[in-house]
Amino acid sequence: MKIISNPLELQEYLKTQKGSIGFVPTMGALHEGHISLIKKARAENELLVVSIFVNPTQFLKGEDLDSYPSRDEADKKICSLANVDVLFFPSKENMYGDDEVSLLAPNVRGFVLEGATRPGHFNGVLTVVMKLLNLVNPTRAYFGKKDAQQLNLITLMVKQLFMNVKIVPVDTVRDSDGLAQSSRNAYLSQEERVQALKISKSLHEASMLVSKRVLKAEEIKESMLHILEPLEVAYVEILNRDFEMIEEIEISNSVILVEVIVGKTRLLDNIWL
Ligand code: AMP
Repeated sequence: MKIISNPLELQEYLKTQKGSIGFVPTMGALHEGHISLIKKARAENELLVVSIFVNPTQFLKGEDLDSYPSRDEADKKICSLANVDVLFFPSKENMYGDDEVSLLAPNVRGFVLEGATRPGHFNGVLTVVMKLLNLVNPTRAYFGKKDAQQLNLITLMVKQLFMNVKIVPVDTVRDSDGLAQSSRNAYLSQEERVQALKISKSLHEASMLVSKRVLKAEEIKESMLHILEPLEVAYVEILNRDFEMIEEIEISNSVILVEVIVGKTRLLDNIWL
């Protein structure tokens, strides 16, 4: 496995390679969720590039940029064992200058849900993903459905800016008790982790209701909020796959999204129905 930290060196190296390129961007502290993206990308492409970069522009003031979990050596081992060809590990200075061009998330879809609780977050996400896609120029780039709004906005960016890459969504990986894997789960105390299980329980309840033909969004939300008590809920929303609010579940075209704050940790989860 080649480890590269200089963006231009990465670009030059990849130009000399032949065949399809699969790309998995991450912020490190790799877990089974990341590994499932990496495995899928490995299976579908000749060359596999993974990036680890904790992107400062997607963190708001006061968020966990400085304390974001990092396990560089373990991450390198995981990538090497997963047959990653190139691990891109840039520094902040390598990726950003002083006076930067910036990309703005769409006014509506970029500023609802997580975009409302973290205004400006998706400007940073789209900017870094654009930089990374330009550097790697992949055939396919892999993103988790766990970050459904991020996936939706990246897919939209690629379409609207006529970018030549296929965005591949990957299912959410959960622990055996249902908790969606996340690097931020490392922040949870034992007690908070038990509390956090209410999130997947509430989504499970929603899917049970839908299987019993309870389709009214308000009714489903109410049951979910009841299960989530007494957690601090940032939102529970029911949308179609174009991220528009709907009053009734449209089977095979709906997403239910939850954001909850457990202790000081923001946790996201969703279910695609
Ligand atoms: P992150 O390192 O949190 O920026 O995540 C990197 C990529 O892994 C993103 O596309 C995430 O959506 C994806 N991801 C994170 N957690 C999971 C999970 N539990 N299952 C599947 N994909 C995930």
